[in-house]
Amino acid sequence: MTAKIAILPGDGIGPEIVAEAVKVLDCLQQEHGLEVEMETANIGGAAYDESGSPLPPATLALCQAADAVLLGAVGGPQYDGLERDLRPERGLLGLRSELQLFSNLRPAILYPQLANASSLKPEIVSGLDIMIVRELTGGIYFGQPRGIRELDNGERQGYNTLVYAEHEIERIARSAFEVAMKRNKKLCSVDKANVLEVSELWREVMIRVSSEYPEVELSHMYVDNASMQLVKWPKQFDVIVTKNMFGDILSDTAAMLTGSIGMLPSASLDQNGKGMYEPIHGSAPDIAGRNTANPLATILSVAMMLRYSLGQHESAELIEQAVSEVLEQGLRTQDIADGGSSVSTREMGDAVVRALTN
Ligand code: NAD
Repeated sequence: MTAKIAILPGDGIGPEIVAEAVKVLDCLQQEHGLEVEMETANIGGAAYDESGSPLPPATLALCQAADAVLLGAVGGPQYDGLERDLRPERGLLGLRSELQLFSNLRPAILYPQLANASSLKPEIVSGLDIMIVRELTGGIYFGQPRGIRELDNGERQGYNTLVYAEHEIERIARSAFEVAMKRNKKLCSVDKANVLEVSELWREVMIRVSSEYPEVELSHMYVDNASMQLVKWPKQFDVIVTKNMFGDILSDTAAMLTGSIGMLPSASLDQNGKGMYEPIHGSAPDIAGRNTANPLATILSVAMMLRYSLGQHESAELIEQAVSEVLEQGLRTQDIADGGSSVSTREMGDAVVRALTN
């Protein structure tokens, strides 16, 4: 069956990097029998400029009807003055919530060829390949009640609520176990069960769901220890699953272990494995339109899409091998060139396509 992909280039470098990812998809169709249908729509600032809304109904409808969504990035300084609901980020948040994307997959992969880009010693990070599964639609960022109130003594008090219902924990657990099944079958659940009742329940549900996945080795770690271990010996992890706020923080730490923001893809999945795929970086307005952005994070997002939403594991591996090959050939965009010579966005995309056709 032909899979439908909604393509949302967005703002800044978005259109440049997405164009290279589309080239890769075209090549897989022509050379490797992949069958996909792609349709492009506006989101973010580009959509606001065209229609006055960062998430036009037609874009939402296209994404709802698609099997997967590929997004570049949204945002730019020209939109900073807009009222909150019209800002580009609103388009993205709206899409995440409309599509009920509760499971955020953030890999931190460090290709051995780029080990020097990390601020950690090469032996600690070279060949690093971990996946953080972050719960994205619950927890303290959304819990009610929340606000700033005045106490009897006139002092103000800020408050938020950390809540997780069992079904929310269960579905992120399943999502993480499924990811672990596609990798090395090791899952570490990160919590704060020594202090938080929510975490006690989290741990209990993780253990319960683990009986459905006997092949996966489940372990538990407190979040403070996890943050230390990520920096001390990150290669001990395969898949980490954690709550929204812990995942927010740990996934950025993990990304920084690799030292190259232009290399990291991400996925946000719903209950049925439909997902939105995007690089972790933003729209990089400082380099937009110069043909210098690194398209590899977006190209690797396509690999994740093929693996996690479209069940095309071989095509996913072909892309990952092609990326590794162009790095092996010494090709670098400016952000990963370490002061050496660099290739353009388009040249990098062309090199990946060449590696795919060899
Ligand atoms: P950014 O990630 O866009 O850029 C940070 C730095 O990294 C910049 O120097 C940029 O040039 C560089 N960079 C980022 N991606 C690169 C790539 N592919 N190749 C080479 N260099 C790259 O973060 P920012 O500057 O804080 O934000 C810029 C805009 O992006 C803002 O409007 C922000 O709101 C938006 N943003 C969007 C998303 C998203 O769409 N998911 C995420 C983060 C930020």
